[in-house]
Amino acid sequence: MNLASRMARLGTETAFEVLARARALEAQGRSVVHLEIGEPDCDTPANIVAAGQKALGDGFTHYGPSPGLPALREAIAEDYTTRRGVEVSPSQVVVFPGGKPVMFFMILALLEEGDEAIYPNPGFPIYQSMIEYSGAKAVALPLRQENEFRVDVDELASLVTDRTKLLIINSPQNPTGSLLTSADLKAIAELCAEKGIWLLSDEIYSRLIHDGEHDTPMRYGDRSRICVLDGFSKTYAMTGWRLGYCITSEEFAVSMARLQTNATSCTAAMTQMAGVEALRGPQDAVDGMLAEFTARRNLIVDGLNALDGVSCVMPKGAFYAFADITGTGLGSKELENRLLDEAGVACLSGTSFGVHGDGFLRFSYANSQDNIREALKRFETFLASARAGV
Ligand code: PLP
Repeated sequence: MNLASRMARLGTETAFEVLARARALEAQGRSVVHLEIGEPDCDTPANIVAAGQKALGDGFTHYGPSPGLPALREAIAEDYTTRRGVEVSPSQVVVFPGGKPVMFFMILALLEEGDEAIYPNPGFPIYQSMIEYSGAKAVALPLRQENEFRVDVDELASLVTDRTKLLIINSPQNPTGSLLTSADLKAIAELCAEKGIWLLSDEIYSRLIHDGEHDTPMRYGDRSRICVLDGFSKTYAMTGWRLGYCITSEEFAVSMARLQTNATSCTAAMTQMAGVEALRGPQDAVDGMLAEFTARRNLIVDGLNALDGVSCVMPKGAFYAFADITGTGLGSKELENRLLDEAGVACLSGTSFGVHGDGFLRFSYANSQDNIREALKRFETFLASARAGV
C-alpha cells in the first residue's frame, strides 16, 4: 500500500481484538463472560440522554468553536475548580471527541525525533503507540506489584535524560487500578518542574475511586507544562458519545484547539450539551455506579485470590483487577487464549499493556456480580483441568 513508514510504529488496543474474537465465538453459539473491555456496563443516565435529545431539537446540530461550546467549557472549569481545589478558567479547557485525542494531540504538539517520553508500563497501550508514531523514543517506566503498581519516583528520576520532554502518568490506573498518593504526585510534579518536563496527567478514572482520594499534579507542579486529560466515558457511562477534555495553560490550550481545527473542526454540539447536563445535573447515578463497582471489585479480587496459582493486589480505583498468574505455570498470552477458547472467559493478557505486564491478566469488572461469579467458577474449573492435564 506504500504507507508512510511511521504507520509501522503505530500500535493498537488489543481489547478490541479480543472482543471481536469473543463475539465470533458467541456467533457460533458459545457462551462468553466479557471481562475484557473497559467500559461501564450500564446505560448513560436518563437525564443526560434527555439533554442530548433536547439539544438535537434545539438546533445544536451545527459546527461550533474548536475549543468547545462556552457552556461546557465553563461547566468543566467550575467542576475542576470545586472538585480538585485548583482554580481553572474556561479558557484553559479544550473539549474533544473523547479523552484519547488529548493524548494524540498533546504528543503531536510536543514530540519529535530525538525526544524521549516516559510512560507507565504496564499502562494504556496508546501512550507507547503514539509516542513511537511521533518519532520520539518511548521510555518505559515500570510499575511494580511490590510497590502497589505506583510510580517509584527514584526510578523515574533515573530514567530522565536531557532529551526527556514528556512524562505520562495515569491515576487511578489502567490496567492495575493503582492510585498515586499526594506525596507521589508532589514528588513527580516537582521533578518535572525542576527538569522542564511536560506532564500529561490522565485522570479519566478520577471519579472511580474505592479507597482513598484523587489528587492532581496541578496542585504541585509547573502548571504551564501540565495537561490534564479527563472525560465523560467512564464516569457517566458515555463511551459511545465521544466526549473528553483537557485542562492546561491558556497558551497550550490554543495549540491543542489548533490541532482540533485541523483534525475534527470541533466536538459534536449535541454531545457537548449532554456533557453540560452530566456535570450540572444530579450525580446520584455516578455514586450508585461507584458503589456497585466497589462491591464487584471485592468479589472478583477475593475470588481471584482464592484460585490456586493466582494472586491479586486490591485495586484502589478504576474497574480493573490485575492478577498475578505466574503461579499457574502458564504464560499470560497463553492463558488469555485458553481462558477464552476453553472456558469462555474473555480477559486481557498483561502484555497488552507493555512488557512489564508479563505474568499478569487484566480482568475488567464492569460486568454484573452474577457474571463475575460465573467467570470465577469457569476459571477455577479450567485451572483444575489444566493441572490434571485434561
Ligand atoms: N485513558 C485511559 C487510561 C483509558 O483507559 C481510556 C479508555 O479506555 C482513555 C484514556 C480514553 O477514553 P475515551 O477516549 O473514551 O474518553
